[in-house]
Amino acid sequence: MIVMKFGGTSVQDAQAIQRAGAIVKQRLERKPVVVVSAMSKVTDQLLAMAKAAGSGDRKQALKLCRALQERHYNAAGELLGTALFTQFHGDLGADFETLDELLRGIAAVGELTPRTSDNVAAYGEMLSSKIVTAAFSAMGIDAAHVDSRECIVTDSAYTRAAPLFEETNVRLQKRIAPLLRENRVPVMGGFIGANKAGITTTIGRGGSDYSAAIVGAGMEAASIEIWTDVDGMMTTDPNQVPGARRIRVISFDEAAELAYFGAKVLHPATVLPAVQKNIPVYVLNSRNPACEGTRISARAPKCRNPFKAIAVKKRVTIVDVAAPRMQLAHGFLSSIFAAFDRHKIAVDVVSTSEVSVSLTMDSSDSIPALAADLAKLADVKYEGRKAIVCLVGENLRETPGIAARVFAELTDVKIRMISQGASEINLTFVIEEDAVPQVVQRLHQTFFSDLDSEVFA
Ligand code: ADP
Ligand code: ASP
Ligand code: MG
Repeated sequence: MIVMKFGGTSVQDAQAIQRAGAIVKQRLERKPVVVVSAMSKVTDQLLAMAKAAGSGDRKQALKLCRALQERHYNAAGELLGTALFTQFHGDLGADFETLDELLRGIAAVGELTPRTSDNVAAYGEMLSSKIVTAAFSAMGIDAAHVDSRECIVTDSAYTRAAPLFEETNVRLQKRIAPLLRENRVPVMGGFIGANKAGITTTIGRGGSDYSAAIVGAGMEAASIEIWTDVDGMMTTDPNQVPGARRIRVISFDEAAELAYFGAKVLHPATVLPAVQKNIPVYVLNSRNPACEGTRISARAPKCRNPFKAIAVKKRVTIVDVAAPRMQLAHGFLSSIFAAFDRHKIAVDVVSTSEVSVSLTMDSSDSIPALAADLAKLADVKYEGRKAIVCLVGENLRETPGIAARVFAELTDVKIRMISQGASEINLTFVIEEDAVPQVVQRLHQTFFSDLDSEVFA
């Protein structure tokens, strides 16, 4: 069997869902399990209505919900035609009724807990997976809807729950394998699961890729296909740099590093369950299915270029923690990291000196409280509007002088932090957010103009 995951843009409207159906039809003999995201932007909209309700604005929450309902009804109506839509209408309507009730409840309490937030966010994938199932059936595919909450078992860390693999694998086999034996096409929502008590959870933003990998690993898939809106993993974000080129093959490690540092085409965790089982992952374009995409493999083939791609992570804050001389003693770093831990803030890049530590993290509302906490230990400064630029490639290990070549291109750029070595396959530095377009253009021009045709298209 194979897993085919369709992202938000690949199920964004009736046309997109029809394109997805046509792609699935071509692969029926490979026994696909289909994992879908919410229609594009729906998760953001659901979280916005949950927030409105949480602040007591019931009217706004319900208004946003009506717009969402209309969009889903329109897509379903267009896909199913009048007769089928009439049958299906009640099912969708019931979901919107429970969503309304939930929003009214949140507004009445005037508080949004992470648990309730997940409950609302899960509607995106619940609705899209039902519509896709009905649409596929109407296209002649023997599709069967599977509620992901029956299969994906997680812990209770709402909004970023971790899957419990053993339990999940047992449930996947039990629920999915019989459908595949009957040559049916299971369709399930990504991103959502449930804890052992059956309460709905979500596994983190962008998590449908991860769901695909969890299902792929649990079912011992022959491959996992991530269908999205670009031709594959590219040398940099093609929506930022029009000259970005497709990478034909990239290693698991390189892909994970790129994802971690902002190439959102793939969720960072996706690769892990797949790596562990040696399952190849492909990134493919649902608008251009003839393109062979990118294959992510356990080991990268030889390549004569030092880098595979440039990733950029924006909306980053730098925190500088400076202790009086001689006080960066034993235990100081651990007390700093303990503060990050207490505030549940993840650190991306770190650099230290005798007297200070600089760290980067995603900009967020939690940073002022963290800074106040750190101020008990030392002098603290923080500054937002920074960006992490990360060059990734296995060849970095064996290319002497590569850092010099990179920074020679950037002599007029203010570089705030540099890091190389943690994984041996990335060279990372931090700059002002405003400088990103010209820095990436320049580096792309220098390192991605003359490419190895075995590795790049
Ligand atoms: P989906 O909704 O299918 O999950 P995402 O929006 O999460 O899709 O990811 C696809 C997007 O990732 C592309 O539209 C592109 O803008 C962005 N992206 C960032 N870096 C890269 C890269 N190196 N290669 C391809 N796409 C990239
Ligand atoms: N719908 C979820 C999100 O927008 C998960 C995903 O699309 O991967 O974060
Ligand atoms: Mg995504």
